[in-house]
Amino acid sequence: MKIDNPTIATGKVKHVPTRTCVCCRKVSEKSSFIRVAKVGDEFVVGNDKVFGRSAYVCKDAQCVAKTVKKRLFDKSFKQKLPEGVYEELTAFLEKP
Ligand SMILES: [Zn+2]
Repeated sequence: MKIDNPTIATGKVKHVPTRTCVCCRKVSEKSSFIRVAKVGDEFVVGNDKVFGRSAYVCKDAQCVAKTVKKRLFDKSFKQKLPEGVYEELTAFLEKP
């Protein structure tokens, strides 16, 4: 079967969803951020599969450090996040 269907060709054009960093406001594709999502009363760090309100920070040591220091996710979620979330965020960046 000949595959020259223009619909298939169009389908190959990548639609890259973009996200914004809570720290530097950089807009980039999802993969360059660490996601923090609120699932029920729990906060999940670095999991793209869970469904919930979420915010993003660059996978960048400076951005993460500043975010942790200033508790920037507290603003995004309009509540005080548990200390553990920020610890996980720092640890996430250190993962290989
Ligand atoms: Zn950033």
